[in-house]
Amino acid sequence: MGGKAGKPDLKPESLSAQGLHWLDPATGEITPPVHISATYARDEANQLHQAGFSYARDHNPLYRQLEALLTRLEGGEEALVFSSGMAAATALLQGLRPGERALFPKIMYWALRNWMVEFSGSWGLGLDFYEPGDTASLEAAAAQSSPALIWVETPANPTWEVTDLAAAAQVARTHGAILAVDSTVPTPVLTRPIEHGADFVFHSATKYLNGHSDIVAGALVARRADHPFWVRAKAQRAYGGGILGPFEAWLLLRGMRTLYLRVRTASQTALALARHFEGHPAVASVLYPGLESHPGHAVARKQMQGGFGGMLSLRIAGGRQAALDVACALQVFTRATSLGG
Ligand code: PLP
Repeated sequence: MGGKAGKPDLKPESLSAQGLHWLDPATGEITPPVHISATYARDEANQLHQAGFSYARDHNPLYRQLEALLTRLEGGEEALVFSSGMAAATALLQGLRPGERALFPKIMYWALRNWMVEFSGSWGLGLDFYEPGDTASLEAAAAQSSPALIWVETPANPTWEVTDLAAAAQVARTHGAILAVDSTVPTPVLTRPIEHGADFVFHSATKYLNGHSDIVAGALVARRADHPFWVRAKAQRAYGGGILGPFEAWLLLRGMRTLYLRVRTASQTALALARHFEGHPAVASVLYPGLESHPGHAVARKQMQGGFGGMLSLRIAGGRQAALDVACALQVFTRATSLGG
């Protein structure tokens, strides 16, 4: 484990590329080792060699480096890495108490919505929905349901609606709710939700943060490390055990070294593809926030810097079978679940 290298003014792309410049204190290695020990020895006086390292659920030196980097890139106070995006999201959502309500977008990553639908009832939680990309709908739903938590995903998988984060933060403040933002698609390269008023940022680190389709991982970043939801999310990881494996932690740090280059290039490619297909006779519509025709374009311009993300969807003229025919004829893209690789 290294120490901070005292270079506070470097740009985020440099911090990411250099893993915050942490060096191994024993050898000066610039690339950390994979820490595979399941446990840590105590000395003759029964003291730990280093405070905070007693057992590998959930103590791993690489978590420290990854979490310090994510904290810095998102502008929060603390971060946590998890075994999957779902483990991270559900650790935060398990901070809800019986009787409290959560407000979710109607369009969002399907498995997280299904998890809430499946478990919220038996845990005594209320669940309500709003139209993503529609502040008036969010405001009306919040006024009606008095949520403890508002979940936003922007741009939202798979239709890429854009929700105004500053407006959502205002709604959350008015109603005493916390605002949690799934920022998997923009990554801190394009949007930093905490700057817009979010309390928590969530990532499926399986996607752009890793960028190579070779791990499953998740992350949370907190605006305030003393927030009760954060304290419970930390306990959930430590006791619930949704910990990132040592090899996955290493691959995540390695992937993040090229995060800024990858996300910017993917955004340029997506915009070029979106423009190419807009108006194409075989395409009914192109869903991409970078197009002027997209309903969320103005908000995307306001809260996304340096690009509109690497994800777009095409609605193929001719319906389902025509769409499947196009998907099956793809030669460059691989037909596989996931994104950001
Ligand atoms: N959020 C978004 C936007 C996603 O695309 C995904 C996965 O596809 C998740 C959350 C869930 O993350 P994971 O698959 O890492 O558990």
